[in-house]
Amino acid sequence: MLTKVEQCWKLNIREFSANDGLSHLAKAECDGQEMSVAYSLSYTNDLKLANITFQSYDEVKSQIIEIESVELPLGDKEYFKCQCGRRCSVLYLIPGGDRFACRNCHKLVYQVKGVSKSLMGGVLYKMNRLACLMEKREKIRRALYDGRPTKRVESFIKLREKWGV
Ligand SMILES: [Zn+2]
Repeated sequence: MLTKVEQCWKLNIREFSANDGLSHLAKAECDGQEMSVAYSLSYTNDLKLANITFQSYDEVKSQIIEIESVELPLGDKEYFKCQCGRRCSVLYLIPGGDRFACRNCHKLVYQVKGVSKSLMGGVLYKMNRLACLMEKREKIRRALYDGRPTKRVESFIKLREKWGV
């Protein structure tokens, strides 16, 4: 079974704003929940390394991630360098996993069907349903024009009751 991006802990490079060797906390996020990731930075042979420690299920894991700085016209931008060599702004930890890595390494897929119920407190979910109903209503108008409304009207009313919109 393929793991979805939405099921993973996401760690954004923006969280690594420190530039000293002290210990700091970054946050990883998954479906509105947060997890603390402790990190400290070290500089070796021109490499900037983040030593991170996090909890995966009940185990404490540690990992070293290289941080690469890229020169851009409007200033330098930092990226994680994944184990595969890719530059990424976000690394993922699969549920119960050992290490943060890019989408390709974890072979992650996006949730394509439907809209998550919890997203934005369910607002998007409802809007998605509403859009679906509106579409059906359009069809009903056309159906009425054709002179055979009953089935579509029935299904529309049923869905409306079921979804509570
Ligand atoms: Zn990778």
